[in-house]
Amino acid sequence: MKLSIVIPVYNEEKTLKELLRKVESVVLPASMEREIIVVNDHSVDKTADILASEKNIKIITHEKNQGKGAAVINGFKASTGDVVVVQDADLEYDPNEYGRLLEPILSGYADVVYGSRFMGGAPHHVLYFWHYVGNKFLTIFSNMFSNLNLTDMETCYKMLTRKVVDDIKGKLRSKRFGVEPEITAYVKKYRVYEVGISYRGRTYAEGKKIGWRDGFSAIWTILRSNIF
Ligand code: UDP
Ligand code: MG
Repeated sequence: MKLSIVIPVYNEEKTLKELLRKVESVVLPASMEREIIVVNDHSVDKTADILASEKNIKIITHEKNQGKGAAVINGFKASTGDVVVVQDADLEYDPNEYGRLLEPILSGYADVVYGSRFMGGAPHHVLYFWHYVGNKFLTIFSNMFSNLNLTDMETCYKMLTRKVVDDIKGKLRSKRFGVEPEITAYVKKYRVYEVGISYRGRTYAEGKKIGWRDGFSAIWTILRSNIF
């Protein structure tokens, strides 16, 4: 068995090295290999230099900045693992929780596992109230069309089996953060599970990039990918 870890990266010089060390050192279930795929979405900071000194990592380079969605889609296409997980390059999500995400898949009862920031007893950095409201609104709006009862549609931690990745990778079109509701629309026909995860949310001063415009475009993506 192999786990592919797809990491979209845009200007993450502050956290990338530490994140990669964490991803490399996570203890996976016995005999599980890992494949680390970094998609450098045309970073203009020291990200490329950091990657140049890395070994045993597949690197995909975008000629221009396209957005998280484009990076995730290209990472999916390059992945070869039996299970694939998306990992943001900041340190908001903790790779040590892969085991939790893997459990329902390895036990054979899930095809898709989302890590929810709104479930479970793990620590959560208390941050923006209006982000929470926006998140909840988008999750509920997405649920209305997918008829999935998710608590956290926008989570970065989406883990998919090979079968699901192969099914959706050619359908995904969202270049930016719309990729989250778009993936959700296409996986709704599979066995979807959620597990509670921790969340060390970062502030805009620390480099957070998602903004209110992305919320509006998510609404359109939810309609497009669920209805058309
Ligand atoms: N990202 C990217 N291209 C972009 C913007 C972001 O590859 O144009 C990456 C970013 O480096 C990070 C992930 O997508 O690894 C999520 O971005 P961010 O943390 O800003 O989003 P949020 O946590 O607000 O969802
Ligand atoms: Mg983030």
